[in-house]
Amino acid sequence: MDRQAIEIKGLKKTYQASKNEPPKHALKGVDLSIPEGSIFGLLGPNGAGKSTLINILAGLVRKTEGQVTIWGFDQDVNPRQSRAAIGVMPQEINMDPFFTPRALLELQAGLYGVPKSERWSDEILELVGLSDKAESYARHLSGGMKRRLLLAKALVHKPRILVLDEPTAGVDIELRNMLWRNVRKLNDRGMTIILTTHYLEEAQQMCDEIAIINHGELIIRDKTSVLLERIDTKTLLITPQGSAPDITPPQGVQLTRRANGQLAFDYRRGTTSADAILDAVRAAGISISDVETTQADLEDVFMDLTSGR
Ligand code: ADP
Ligand code: MG
Repeated sequence: MDRQAIEIKGLKKTYQASKNEPPKHALKGVDLSIPEGSIFGLLGPNGAGKSTLINILAGLVRKTEGQVTIWGFDQDVNPRQSRAAIGVMPQEINMDPFFTPRALLELQAGLYGVPKSERWSDEILELVGLSDKAESYARHLSGGMKRRLLLAKALVHKPRILVLDEPTAGVDIELRNMLWRNVRKLNDRGMTIILTTHYLEEAQQMCDEIAIINHGELIIRDKTSVLLERIDTKTLLITPQGSAPDITPPQGVQLTRRANGQLAFDYRRGTTSADAILDAVRAAGISISDVETTQADLEDVFMDLTSGR
C-alpha cells in the first residue's frame, strides 16, 4: 500500500468568536489521507474550511477534535516531529518588514533549529529568484517578491511536505509560472505538495489527486483523471447547411434541435465517439457547415458537486 504523508481522521474545528455568537463549525469531521510524493489539490468555495484545515496541519490553529498524523507522527503525541515534516506558505503575507530576505530565512532556520551546517538559504533564494534581493529590506520588495519570500521561508527546514494556501491568488502570470515550475521541481525531488487554489484549470493541470470540501465537509476525493471521467458527457454541436431532415442518432446519444437550427448531440465519451455521430449525420444526407464540441472540465465537476448545497 502507498505510504501516506498525511492522515486525518474525524477532524473537527469549531470557532467560537465570542459567547454571544453561535459557534462556527468550520470542519465537521473530515477524513482525508494524502499519499507521499503526490501533488494534492484541496479545493472548495470560499469559506469551505480549506485554510482552517491547512492551518491545523501547520500547527497554527488548534483542532477541536480528531486525529492528525503527519509523516507518521501524531500531532498530539509528537508535535515537534510532525511540525518539522511540514512547511507552509500561508495565504496572507505576514513578515517583518525590517528584515532582509536572507535574515528572515536565517531567523526561520533558527526557529526550526536547523544547524548552521545544514542551512541552504542561498540555494533557496536562487530557487525562488530572489538572490539579487537577498540584502534588501522586505518592505522594499514588491507583492510578488514577498510571496516568493513566503515560499522560501516554508522551505528553510527542508520539509517533507510543502503546503501552499492559494499561492497564485492575485499574482501575475510570470510569478504563477515561477511558482508552478518550483512546485514541480520540488515534487520531482520527492517533496509531497498540498495546495489550495481557486483556479480549477490550474488544479486540473497540476494535481494528481484532488479533494473537494464544502461547508466543512469532504465531498469527494479522487484522482484528477477519475474526477474528470465522472462527468464524461460531451456535447457535439452541429450546424447544418439549410434545414436538417429527420435523423436517428446512434444508440445512447440524445439529440436536441436548438431554435437556431443547430443539432446538439449529448453523448458519453466512454461509449460513443464523435465520429459515429458525424457518420450518422452524413448518412442522413446533412451537409455540415460547422462543428463544435463542449467538454466537461473540473469546473463542471466542481459546480455539480457544490451547487445547491
Ligand atoms: P477557506 O480557506 O476555504 O475560504 P476558512 O478555513 O478560511 O475557509 O474558513 C472556514 C469558515 O470558518 C468560514 O466560515 C470562516 O468565516 C470561519 N472562520 C475562519 N477563521 C475563523 C476565526 N478565526 N474565527 C471565527 N471563524 C473563522
Ligand atoms: Mg482560505
